[in-house]
Amino acid sequence: MRGLRTVLVEQNDLGSGTSSRSSRLVHGGLRYLETGELRLVLEANRERRVLLRIAPHLVWPLPFIFPVHRGDRVTLPRLAAGMWLYDLLALFRNVRTHRMLGKRAVLEAEPMLRERGLLGGARFYDAQCDDARLVLATARSAMHHGALVANYVGVVALDRTAGRVVGAQVEDRLSGERAAIRASVVVNATGPWADRVRTLEDAGAAPLLRPTKGVHVVVDRSRIDHRDGIIFTSPIDGRVLFVLPWGDLSYIGTTDTDATEPPDRLATTADEIIYLLRSTNARFPSARLGLDDVRATWAGLRPLLADRNGRSTSNRSRDHAVVQGSGGMITVVGGKLTTYRAMASEVVDRAARELRHREGRARRAATRTDEEPLPGGEAADLSGFRERGLEIGVLPESVEHLLRHYGTEAAGIYNLGGADRRLLRRLLPPHPAIEAEVLHAVRRELAQTVEDVMVRRLHLYYEHPERGIPAARRVAELMAGERAWDAARVEREARRYEEFARR
Ligand SMILES: Cc1cc2nc3c(=O)[nH]c(=O)nc-3n(C[C@H](O)[C@H](O)[C@H](O)COP(=O)(O)OP(=O)(O)OC[C@H]3O[C@@H](n4cnc5c(N)ncnc54)[C@H](O)[C@@H]3O)c2cc1C
Repeated sequence: MRGLRTVLVEQNDLGSGTSSRSSRLVHGGLRYLETGELRLVLEANRERRVLLRIAPHLVWPLPFIFPVHRGDRVTLPRLAAGMWLYDLLALFRNVRTHRMLGKRAVLEAEPMLRERGLLGGARFYDAQCDDARLVLATARSAMHHGALVANYVGVVALDRTAGRVVGAQVEDRLSGERAAIRASVVVNATGPWADRVRTLEDAGAAPLLRPTKGVHVVVDRSRIDHRDGIIFTSPIDGRVLFVLPWGDLSYIGTTDTDATEPPDRLATTADEIIYLLRSTNARFPSARLGLDDVRATWAGLRPLLADRNGRSTSNRSRDHAVVQGSGGMITVVGGKLTTYRAMASEVVDRAARELRHREGRARRAATRTDEEPLPGGEAADLSGFRERGLEIGVLPESVEHLLRHYGTEAAGIYNLGGADRRLLRRLLPPHPAIEAEVLHAVRRELAQTVEDVMVRRLHLYYEHPERGIPAARRVAELMAGERAWDAARVEREARRYEEFARR
């Protein structure tokens, strides 16, 4: 948007790293009040306001209940003080201000909570998001403004002239083809991989990160039967945990342990699942969650800055840093999904300064990314789009699903169905996703593989009891027309997804 010619390469699919493995919250960070990081909370609260405005289909308000039981680390007076501070740092412009609740009111709101020892609690507001689709929408917005974006293209080496980084060698992960990209400024925004990419510039670069691993588990919502988001302290170790609603499902998170695995080989362990289930059972005794109830899991690495103060994993700062290496490459590390726009704007300021100093380029005014809607976010009131969907015969639950995923771009999906009504069929009833979405994912959303469609575009991987496997072939067939795949390739792509999902 500042007129810089920009290329973005992602070695895998967009959002496939940490950014589709978060707690899916766009939040001020209530927890950071405990570590005194008030500036961070202020910034995150501002970003929450912005994202609710520019992407109302992907970021939506979520009410929370924070119950307090006898013996909890967070006591009622402490919670009350924290709640006031949280509202204050949102400049009293949160969705609504908080309310402290007595024991009865907490139980009225969430009857399944353990009654024994319950003292009261609070209701407050934050926002939930579709993390993977938010990444995608942001990259697509950049494309609309002229950026070249390529997924499955990884940086394998950096080119240097007179010591300065002047571009990158890249490899197409799907075809094996190699190419060079020349660039006046190179930015390394690779989350938990950032230190690895920095070693391409300087083999001896000291690590900036000390990542921590976080795991979530998904269960049927009816088992916990909660209405709102619930935030509570684990009776096992006093850490703050969430139970969050996702349609008919609930996800529980998260752990926070020093990472021992590299970012490309993360897996959820039984111990991590048991910790989350036991903590939840202690607060919702009738849920009786066991390993068999787990419908899906995901694990991610928080790209956190190494802490010079030696703080424990949960207390490690969520702040970010922008640094420049010996060859001038700009690296951005730390932070969180919520504040991505603020981090990006700092990075682009730095890049613009570099271009001015080194190449004498003219100063460019900052742009209003806080006002520019992300694709699909042009209108918050989607009632006209709802009516239109019903008119053309889309099932009501699929209409709601389309509005939540695509916002105003649901119109484009309807058009695909207008041209071929068979595309309005559901892919895997009763899941509301319809076939037209697969074409949209390939044509507009850079989906290259069945996994891209199933996991990060349509979410069948997390939301369907069999991880969407029974639809893998149909998805591959629909993609085949767009990608010119022959029958053997359709077979291969479907099988590759099945193997991935089973693993
Ligand atoms: C369990 C957990 C819960 C979280 N919950 C929240 C939350 O609720 N709210 C919130 O705001 N934040 C949350 N966060 C933090 C947030 O998810 C991360 O800060 C954010 O997603 C990091 O984004 P990123 O782009 O820096 O990294 P990533 O999303 O990991 O992206 C980096 C990308 O770089 C690519 N890459 C790496 N090497 C190369 C290369 N050589 N060439 C090309 N591409 C490369 C990778 O493939 C990857 O996709 C959570 C994090 C975790 C782990």
